[in-house]
Amino acid sequence: MNQKDLNMFRELLLEKKENLLKEVHKNRENRNNYHYKEVGDTADVAADSYEKEFMFELTDKEQRLLNTIEVALHKIESKTYGICEECKGKITIDRLKAVPFTSLCVECQAKKEATK
Ligand SMILES: [Zn+2]
Repeated sequence: MNQKDLNMFRELLLEKKENLLKEVHKNRENRNNYHYKEVGDTADVAADSYEKEFMFELTDKEQRLLNTIEVALHKIESKTYGICEECKGKITIDRLKAVPFTSLCVECQAKKEATK
């Protein structure tokens, strides 16, 4: 893959990462606003702070997606981006454009999904 394409995918990935983090912050704020309104009784303080801490954690899904994006960004730096982790073949540009953080080519992804 040439440098121009790598740069384009880096931009795409950074944008996805930013959107994800924004989304996480937004959801958290909404939840916290809701939460504060519901808080009334001081007897629940211990449970509340536990719950608040819990809310500051990313969900599994968010964490996984973020990791996948980080891995893809790392691959761009190490020039291994766009190579399928299974068969070491090239992942097509069209597929990368649709799913820039994928680590598998279409064939390997299909095989993986078939064995689930
Ligand atoms: Zn493959």
